Amino acid sequence: MACPICQKPTDATFRPFCSKRCADIDLAKWFTGGYAIPADDPEDAEELENELQRTDLQKPH
Ligand SMILES: [Zn+2]
Repeated sequence: MACPICQKPTDATFRPFCSKRCADIDLAKWFTGGYAIPADDPEDAEELENELQRTDLQKPH
């Protein structure tokens, strides 16, 4: 099974995701637009934002 976010192999710890990052991204998708994303470090937050913006474009509102 592949991570639904980035299609990498799933990590048992974060199933069905490959990492906490992808789990957070998925979680954020359930919030409106994904504001106030919990992140361990600023670089991750930036990546998450980019990821969310891309996801947002695909999401029919
Ligand atoms: Zn992933």
